[in-house]
Amino acid sequence: MVRTGHFLKYLQINLQQILGVKMLNGRVLVLNADYQPLNICALPRAVGLIYLGKAQILETRDRPISTVNCTYPNPSVIRLYSYIRKPYASVKLSRKSILTRDNYTCQYCGKRDKYMTVDHVAPKRRGGKTDWENLVCACRTCNSKKGGRTLKEAGMQLLKKPIKPHFVLPNQYTQVVNSELDTTWWKYLEYFITN
Ligand SMILES: [Zn+2]
Repeated sequence: MVRTGHFLKYLQINLQQILGVKMLNGRVLVLNADYQPLNICALPRAVGLIYLGKAQILETRDRPISTVNCTYPNPSVIRLYSYIRKPYASVKLSRKSILTRDNYTCQYCGKRDKYMTVDHVAPKRRGGKTDWENLVCACRTCNSKKGGRTLKEAGMQLLKKPIKPHFVLPNQYTQVVNSELDTTWWKYLEYFITN
């Protein structure tokens, strides 16, 4: 099995020569063959992968890439045709990682704020576990409203099922993702988390 780093290094090509493109700015979200997020790469590398028939474009940006002779689609999300085995870093369970997973959004009322609490869905006193599947981000109001009751007893519902995130986004990409908030990246990053 080829490792990601070696594979991508192998594919580094000089686009300036091939396409005559002087400047290619932008970041592209790279998905594995199974649509799992793999990494974020610079636009030239993404164009290289497409050019070599190693990846397909799933989403594009409005402005195409123009060269002297022609225009090319400007990829925003690409998917590799071959599956790359990637050792996903395991995500450490913490207050911050729960809040990040839930995007600082109360999982009961949908309110988003930077001051949030972590709530045990099944109450801790009644055997509720401290794990990814039982912890959610909650606003103070909902947390105290629910108290030590179960969802059913409190007549409350979760916005979505809490799960363990499977993708750790390296620190240096956090800013990139934040600046891509309005693009189509989110639907592919539903359960990503920054470390
Ligand atoms: Zn709330």
